[in-house]
Amino acid sequence: MHERLRDVRHADGLANQIRHFQYREGVVPEWCRFAHIRCGASDSLVRSWCRQLFQATEVEDCSAPGEPRPGLPVGMRECADCFVAVKFPGLTDRTPVDGMIPARIDTPREMASAMQVLQQDLVDEASRIPAGDVDPARLGRLAADTERFASALRRFGWLATRG
Ligand SMILES: [Zn+2]
Repeated sequence: MHERLRDVRHADGLANQIRHFQYREGVVPEWCRFAHIRCGASDSLVRSWCRQLFQATEVEDCSAPGEPRPGLPVGMRECADCFVAVKFPGLTDRTPVDGMIPARIDTPREMASAMQVLQQDLVDEASRIPAGDVDPARLGRLAADTERFASALRRFGWLATRG
Protein backbone atom coordinates (compact mmCIF):
# COMPACT_ATOMS: atom_id res chain seq x y z
CA MET A 1 0.00 0.00 0.00
CA HIS A 2 2.74 2.39 0.99
CA GLU A 3 4.68 1.56 -2.16
CA ARG A 4 1.65 2.33 -4.24
CA LEU A 5 1.14 5.72 -2.57
CA ARG A 6 4.72 6.63 -3.23
CA ASP A 7 4.31 5.67 -6.90
CA VAL A 8 1.33 7.96 -7.24
CA ARG A 9 3.20 10.86 -5.70
CA HIS A 10 6.14 10.21 -8.00
CA ALA A 11 3.88 10.20 -11.03
CA ASP A 12 2.29 13.45 -9.84
CA GLY A 13 5.71 14.98 -9.47
CA LEU A 14 6.62 14.11 -13.04
CA ALA A 15 3.35 15.51 -14.34
CA ASN A 16 4.00 18.77 -12.49
CA GLN A 17 7.44 19.02 -14.00
CA ILE A 18 5.97 19.30 -17.44
CA ARG A 19 3.70 22.27 -16.98
CA HIS A 20 4.14 24.82 -19.72
CA PHE A 21 3.63 28.54 -19.34
CA GLN A 22 4.17 31.60 -21.52
CA TYR A 23 3.80 35.38 -21.47
CA ARG A 24 0.19 36.48 -21.70
CA GLU A 25 -0.88 38.00 -24.99
CA GLY A 26 0.13 41.67 -25.25
CA VAL A 27 2.80 41.63 -22.53
CA VAL A 28 5.64 41.12 -25.02
CA PRO A 29 5.84 40.96 -28.84
CA GLU A 30 4.43 37.70 -30.22
CA TRP A 31 7.85 36.40 -31.27
CA CYS A 32 9.02 36.26 -27.64
CA ARG A 33 6.04 34.26 -26.36
CA PHE A 34 7.97 31.03 -25.76
CA ALA A 35 6.24 28.14 -24.00
CA HIS A 36 8.62 27.48 -21.10
CA ILE A 37 8.46 24.59 -18.64
CA ARG A 38 7.74 25.50 -15.04
CA CYS A 39 10.55 24.62 -12.66
CA GLY A 40 9.36 26.37 -9.52
CA ALA A 41 7.32 29.31 -8.33
CA SER A 42 6.76 31.67 -5.44
CA ASP A 43 3.74 33.93 -4.94
CA SER A 44 5.01 36.54 -7.35
CA LEU A 45 7.60 34.77 -9.52
CA VAL A 46 7.67 31.74 -11.81
CA ARG A 47 10.98 30.07 -12.65
CA SER A 48 11.59 28.16 -15.88
CA TRP A 49 13.91 25.23 -16.52
CA CYS A 50 15.94 27.54 -18.76
CA ARG A 51 16.66 29.52 -15.56
CA GLN A 52 14.66 32.63 -16.26
CA LEU A 53 12.37 34.35 -13.77
CA PHE A 54 8.96 35.70 -14.73
CA GLN A 55 6.45 37.89 -12.92
CA ALA A 56 3.57 35.55 -12.12
CA THR A 57 1.04 38.19 -13.26
CA GLU A 58 2.65 38.37 -16.72
CA VAL A 59 2.45 34.66 -17.57
CA GLU A 60 -0.27 32.05 -18.06
CA ASP A 61 -0.34 28.26 -18.02
CA CYS A 62 -0.58 26.92 -21.55
CA SER A 63 -0.64 23.65 -23.44
CA ALA A 64 2.53 22.03 -24.73
CA PRO A 65 3.20 23.53 -28.18
CA GLY A 66 1.49 21.44 -30.84
CA GLU A 67 -0.64 19.63 -28.23
CA PRO A 68 -3.75 21.75 -27.63
CA ARG A 69 -5.62 20.96 -24.41
CA PRO A 70 -9.19 22.00 -23.67
CA GLY A 71 -9.35 24.90 -21.20
CA LEU A 72 -5.74 25.98 -21.69
CA PRO A 73 -4.36 28.68 -23.99
CA VAL A 74 -2.40 27.18 -26.87
CA GLY A 75 1.35 27.09 -26.26
CA MET A 76 3.09 29.26 -28.83
CA ARG A 77 6.67 28.31 -29.67
CA GLU A 78 8.54 25.73 -27.63
CA CYS A 79 11.48 26.92 -25.54
CA ALA A 80 14.24 24.56 -26.69
CA ASP A 81 16.39 25.40 -23.64
CA CYS A 82 13.60 24.28 -21.26
CA PHE A 83 13.01 21.12 -23.30
CA VAL A 84 16.70 20.18 -23.18
CA ALA A 85 17.04 21.06 -19.48
CA VAL A 86 14.11 18.80 -18.53
CA LYS A 87 15.38 15.91 -20.65
CA PHE A 88 18.99 16.25 -19.51
CA PRO A 89 18.98 17.96 -16.10
CA GLY A 90 22.67 17.19 -15.56
CA LEU A 91 23.74 19.22 -18.57
CA THR A 92 22.55 22.58 -17.29
CA ASP A 93 23.99 22.01 -13.81
CA ARG A 94 27.42 21.81 -15.36
CA THR A 95 27.21 25.20 -17.03
CA PRO A 96 26.58 27.66 -14.20
CA VAL A 97 26.21 31.27 -15.24
CA ASP A 98 28.52 33.50 -13.23
CA GLY A 99 27.65 37.08 -14.01
CA MET A 100 24.92 39.63 -14.52
CA ILE A 101 24.20 38.95 -18.18
CA PRO A 102 21.99 35.92 -18.87
CA ALA A 103 22.87 33.54 -21.70
CA ARG A 104 19.44 33.99 -23.17
CA ILE A 105 17.60 37.28 -23.59
CA ASP A 106 14.10 36.99 -25.05
CA THR A 107 12.32 40.30 -24.75
CA PRO A 108 13.05 43.92 -25.75
CA ARG A 109 12.69 44.96 -22.10
CA GLU A 110 15.30 42.41 -20.92
CA MET A 111 17.63 43.30 -23.78
CA ALA A 112 17.49 46.99 -22.88
CA SER A 113 18.20 46.16 -19.25
CA ALA A 114 21.14 43.87 -20.12
CA MET A 115 22.57 46.63 -22.31
CA GLN A 116 22.39 49.08 -19.42
CA VAL A 117 24.02 46.63 -17.00
CA LEU A 118 26.86 45.92 -19.43
CA GLN A 119 27.27 49.60 -20.25
CA GLN A 120 27.60 50.44 -16.54
CA ASP A 121 30.17 47.66 -16.06
CA LEU A 122 32.20 49.02 -18.97
CA VAL A 123 31.99 52.56 -17.64
CA ASP A 124 33.21 51.33 -14.23
CA GLU A 125 36.20 49.59 -15.80
CA ALA A 126 36.93 52.62 -17.97
CA SER A 127 37.40 54.63 -14.79
CA ARG A 128 39.58 52.00 -13.05
CA ILE A 129 41.98 50.92 -15.78
CA PRO A 130 43.61 54.32 -16.49
CA ALA A 131 44.24 54.66 -12.74
CA GLY A 132 46.21 51.40 -12.80
CA ASP A 133 43.50 49.28 -11.17
CA VAL A 134 43.71 46.19 -13.39
CA ASP A 135 42.21 43.06 -11.82
CA PRO A 136 42.46 40.02 -14.11
CA ALA A 137 39.66 38.14 -12.30
CA ARG A 138 37.29 41.09 -12.62
CA LEU A 139 38.24 41.60 -16.26
CA GLY A 140 37.72 37.89 -16.89
CA ARG A 141 34.17 38.13 -15.54
CA LEU A 142 33.53 41.20 -17.70
CA ALA A 143 34.90 39.35 -20.73
CA ALA A 144 32.60 36.37 -20.01
CA ASP A 145 29.62 38.71 -19.64
CA THR A 146 30.52 40.45 -22.88
CA GLU A 147 30.79 37.15 -24.74
CA ARG A 148 27.47 35.96 -23.36
CA PHE A 149 25.92 39.28 -24.29
CA ALA A 150 27.28 39.07 -27.84
CA SER A 151 25.72 35.68 -28.48
CA ALA A 152 22.44 36.67 -26.78
CA LEU A 153 22.34 39.82 -28.94
CA ARG A 154 22.81 37.86 -32.18
CA ARG A 155 20.07 35.42 -31.20
CA PHE A 156 17.76 38.28 -30.18
CA GLY A 157 18.23 40.08 -33.47
CA TRP A 158 17.64 36.93 -35.44
CA LEU A 159 14.43 36.06 -33.53
CA ALA A 160 13.04 39.58 -33.62
CA THR A 161 13.39 39.93 -37.36
CA ARG A 162 11.85 36.52 -38.03
CA GLY A 163 8.71 37.87 -36.37
ZN1 LIG B 1 12.53 28.20 -21.25
